[in-house]
Amino acid sequence: MTDHLPLSFSFELFPPKTPEGSAKLKTVIADLAAREPEFFSVTYGAGGSTREGTFETVDWLRSQGIDTAPHLACIGSNQDEVRALLNRYRDQGIRRIVALRGDLPSGTGTGTSGDFRYANELVEFIRAEHGADFHIEVAAYPEYHPQAPSAMRDLEHFKRKVEAGADSAITQYFYNADAYFAFVDSVRALGIGIPIVPGIMPITNYTQLARFSDACGAEIPRWARRRLEGYGDDLESIRAFGHEVGLRLCRNLLAGGAPGLHFYTMNQSGPTLRLWDDLGLTA
Ligand code: FAD
Repeated sequence: MTDHLPLSFSFELFPPKTPEGSAKLKTVIADLAAREPEFFSVTYGAGGSTREGTFETVDWLRSQGIDTAPHLACIGSNQDEVRALLNRYRDQGIRRIVALRGDLPSGTGTGTSGDFRYANELVEFIRAEHGADFHIEVAAYPEYHPQAPSAMRDLEHFKRKVEAGADSAITQYFYNADAYFAFVDSVRALGIGIPIVPGIMPITNYTQLARFSDACGAEIPRWARRRLEGYGDDLESIRAFGHEVGLRLCRNLLAGGAPGLHFYTMNQSGPTLRLWDDLGLTA
């Protein structure tokens, strides 16, 4: 796939909502940063709900000398808002953006308000306004986006984001390595060569994971679901089994040529660092 490039490892955070969360996140970041990932990324609530929180978290990371990529979800925003945010990031020294459509929270309209409908339009806008100033990451879906009318249409839509100027992609999380490899093969068959980095969601809390997975269309394989359900409230067993599942997945992905790993840390260092250390990725 992209054997000639160095592997890229990155950690995703979300902006904390409380002063306690903020204080805890600084410790989490210090633990994770010690592994010297390529970058951290910080999520963004579509419609601008976390605009300042994302900006402040990114600003703090930058002040620590840590390379950081803000996520930017365009749905519900107009061009002036996005332009202002991009200019703030550029002035802050940010050089990488995760460009997304986003999902407006239910009850806030049809999702068609604002100047952008799909992520490819945001990628085009960033390129038109800033040329090559930003490295642009986009989202990819090995199990396909839940709203896509078909797998092939989703692949075509993914191609549009690349043609608009995306440099690399990070996937939605998944637990089936074959889904990733088949997706990458399909993408390559369409002539798309950008790196597609698997997103890894460590398993720590089954109830929460099952809820997320239903919403975003990520499949928890039946055998793993059955095991996790069987542990009930036994968090220690869930974590131990989740770690085994995650470790096997990461090993398979790297052995099969994945160009790196992007960890959805959920603002916790422990589960991600256990994977990191057991994979032997220690800086
Ligand atoms: P798009 O690429 O625009 O695709 C969305 C849907 O529209 C797909 O079904 C696609 O097939 C279809 N489509 C695309 N283009 C067209 C077109 N031109 N015509 C018709 N149909 C089209 N959400 C947040 O709110 N904040 C975040 O910080 C965030 N971070 C994320 C990070 C990663 C790595 C990933 C994988 C997802 C993240 N998300 C985030 C979730 C993401 O915003 C949702 O999955 C959203 O539903 C789709 O965003 P997208 O950028 O993939 O959209």
